Amino acid sequence: MKKKHWYDYFWLWAILYFGLGFFNILFAWLGLFDFCVPLIFALLGNKWFCNHMCGRSQLFTVLAQKCGCSRQKAAPRWLSASWFRYAFLGFFMAMFCSMLWQTYLVYGGVSSLSETVKIFWTFKVPWHWAYTAGSVPDWAAQFFFGFYSTMLTSALLGLVAMALYRPRTWCSFCPMGTMTQIICRFRAHGKTPSN
Ligand code: SF4
Repeated sequence: MKKKHWYDYFWLWAILYFGLGFFNILFAWLGLFDFCVPLIFALLGNKWFCNHMCGRSQLFTVLAQKCGCSRQKAAPRWLSASWFRYAFLGFFMAMFCSMLWQTYLVYGGVSSLSETVKIFWTFKVPWHWAYTAGSVPDWAAQFFFGFYSTMLTSALLGLVAMALYRPRTWCSFCPMGTMTQIICRFRAHGKTPSN
């Protein structure tokens, strides 16, 4: 049996993160680690985070292996095709910028704080129990609600992909995975000696 390492248990963190955000949206910022750490690893020249530390992909694997939640079918090829990966990354970044813009509008007093979590960038789900008005500036609370929405939406997409296909199907078009791959390729290209 393969020896377990401390970093094999980050799937617990993935569950804890969404649990904390369910009860208190102020914990949502902790998800920034999941954004920054893979990029830092990629800038250092490797995909160690994706291969060993990503709690989300570990969670998909655990759910598939321990609970049999995955059909274990091959995903359609277009899901891992470059055009789809880059298109999805572009769409994801556009939605992320839209979330930041909404935060800015609240900061500027143009919009008021929306105590909702937006699922699939479309469906607004009331989430007011997770926030006590005035705990932080409204713009910060808006960012937390928006960021948690992004994290939850991508996790749900990953769960659907896991259920329909193989456990880590989400990884074939995950925006973080695509970004780290781009960075690693740039680094490898930069190291190639020119003739
Ligand atoms: S591709 Fe995305 S979900 Fe998969 S291991 Fe990397 S960061 Fe995690």
